Amino acid sequence: MSCEVCQKLWERFLDETGASCFVLWTFGTTLFSLLVVVVVAGLFMFMDVTNLPKSMRKYKIQPGTNEPLTSEQLRKVVKTAFINMVLVGIPTLACFHKFSSITGRLPDLRILPTFIEILYTIPAGLLGFEFFFYYSHRLFHSKYLYKSFHKKHHEWTSPVALAAVYSHPLEHVICSMIPLYLGVWLTKAHLISAWVWVAIALTGTLHDHSGYHLPFISSSEAHDFHHLKFNQFYGVLGFLDWLHGTDDLFRQSKSSKRHRNLLGTRSAREVFPDD
Ligand SMILES: [Zn+2]
Ligand SMILES: [Zn+2]
Repeated sequence: MSCEVCQKLWERFLDETGASCFVLWTFGTTLFSLLVVVVVAGLFMFMDVTNLPKSMRKYKIQPGTNEPLTSEQLRKVVKTAFINMVLVGIPTLACFHKFSSITGRLPDLRILPTFIEILYTIPAGLLGFEFFFYYSHRLFHSKYLYKSFHKKHHEWTSPVALAAVYSHPLEHVICSMIPLYLGVWLTKAHLISAWVWVAIALTGTLHDHSGYHLPFISSSEAHDFHHLKFNQFYGVLGFLDWLHGTDDLFRQSKSSKRHRNLLGTRSAREVFPDD
């Protein structure tokens, strides 16, 4: 399908639905994010609740935890995820749309981005996320902020996918949504570019919290270690932790050895067994 066809279909969609820029950025982005979370977290949570398929159990990073996830745990995590993504997410996205509008960072919605423009948003989004997330996350580990807000997210010493959005609403805005949309704002990204980035980022954070280190995709050992030890590995990519020395214990740990892409079907625990 050529880009001209995409452009025509997009214009037709806008004309026929009458959806405004505001509606698409707020409600559209929320619906799209929910779809990604339901599909990705749904797969992980299915494995958590049913302990199936059996062949996947060996990829658990902390075996014996949340095996299975109880209905009470599931209810608790779904409820908070819904509050954060819908009741907190929609007003936050409305503010983001307003802020982007008054700062001149909203491109013409009718003109679809080029493939290069979409690609460009991804590293920008990743760098923006890493910087804002690392420092805000560290701030939330200060005594007062931890006790009042971040402790909720750390109830999960062995996280599950939906724990990615299990946090105090204030933390959800500052440590999750602002870092997520910082690169979008900086690059003046189109809605479609933003949605591509949001899908990648949400899939990444859901996987980082999943409690599984699956083969052939990036390792989720580091953030799992953060949930286990609390004061190690605050970032996502690792270079700010290296720079600030907040990965010293992690580097000496077995998790650090296991923190690599698995290129076969053997689990990280099989390749690097406990001593
Ligand atoms: Zn976390
Ligand atoms: Zn933390």
